[in-house]
Amino acid sequence: MTVKMRALVKKFPRKGLWLDEVSVPTIKGNEVLIKVERAAICGSDVHIYDWNDWAQRSIPVPLVIGHEFVGQISEKGELVTRYTVGDRVSAEGHVTCGVCRRCRGGLRHLCTQTQGIGVQLPGCFAEYVVVPAENLWPVPDGISDDYAAVFDPLGNAVHTALSFDLIGEDVLITGAGPIGAMAVGICKMVGARYVVITDVNDYRLDIARKMGATRAVNVDKTRIQTVMSDLGMIGFDVGLEMSGNPNALGEMIENMINGGKIALLGIMDELFSFDLNQVVFKGLTIKGIFGREMFETWYKMTILVRQGLNIDPVITHSFAMEDFEKAFEVIQGGRSGKVILSIS
Ligand code: NAD
Ligand code: ZN
Repeated sequence: MTVKMRALVKKFPRKGLWLDEVSVPTIKGNEVLIKVERAAICGSDVHIYDWNDWAQRSIPVPLVIGHEFVGQISEKGELVTRYTVGDRVSAEGHVTCGVCRRCRGGLRHLCTQTQGIGVQLPGCFAEYVVVPAENLWPVPDGISDDYAAVFDPLGNAVHTALSFDLIGEDVLITGAGPIGAMAVGICKMVGARYVVITDVNDYRLDIARKMGATRAVNVDKTRIQTVMSDLGMIGFDVGLEMSGNPNALGEMIENMINGGKIALLGIMDELFSFDLNQVVFKGLTIKGIFGREMFETWYKMTILVRQGLNIDPVITHSFAMEDFEKAFEVIQGGRSGKVILSIS
């Protein structure tokens, strides 16, 4: 076993990331060491790169970052019985305590002491990453490395989209980032009628169109109401907020049908106010979504992919780990879907 590995490290508390040589992490009895093949860049990695307020509050420096990946098990702890060296795996990046009320109640995604791989724990933008065996998700043959590398955000999309019954329903998705665009495909596949998605970025709206959106609407140019009357609708049954933009949420609430249901995935950068009375008078249900259900979401997304869910349009770029600067540049230019780093 090599003792040193290449990794992308948040080395200093300022903008940037540094390609560095660090020690290969060691495993405890219940953990596995994974040789990372491909990793994907998440919006939170961009926040860490930029060193925004959230990153400054959350990230211990130095830290190897990254949490979306696929790789092969290269070593396992003595307590790990279920896996074999060489197994191809992805993993849930939220490491949970296993003993809090939520964990013991079978709601691990709501653990009160969650720690994130690549956020508090060493991450996967590296040749090797350590993961507790219970977080592993074996990847069946027939699922590509690129798909497996984005199981984490695909899981966010699946968790959010499947929060409410979608059969025959009209769905509004705000935000055509990678997660919003993947949600389009999921909603269509499970039987929604109209899936309308909004953004302010035409490149991303094009991806959402390729994913099967009934309408992909640039809200800087077209009102949602115009699209609704065009489709002969009076309001959306289900809303999936995936932009993190307060205006998008405000417009969503305005355009829901009475009794509509909203799932909130987007994370707002700042506090804002809106007319909560509309939620009351319209009898809306609003549900916050965190992460992925462990492991029901993983199961469902694996089956959806095997049943033909096609997210090719969302995976737009791939770079060698050494070219990470180019990868972050592409994302910041706004003309990308999911961007993959090939590690080894
Ligand atoms: P992203 O930032 O790539 O996409 C957000 C999209 O929203 C962008 O394309 C942006 O142009 C668009 N947008 C901005 N203003 C808009 C407006 N007024 N109306 C419609 N769209 C608008 O993000 P992503 O990776 O696709 O993730 C989606 C959201 O989910 C982000 O807010 C992210 O922080 C959040 N997230 C939450 C969790 C969780 O566990 N809750 C997990 C992952 C991501
Ligand atoms: Zn817990």
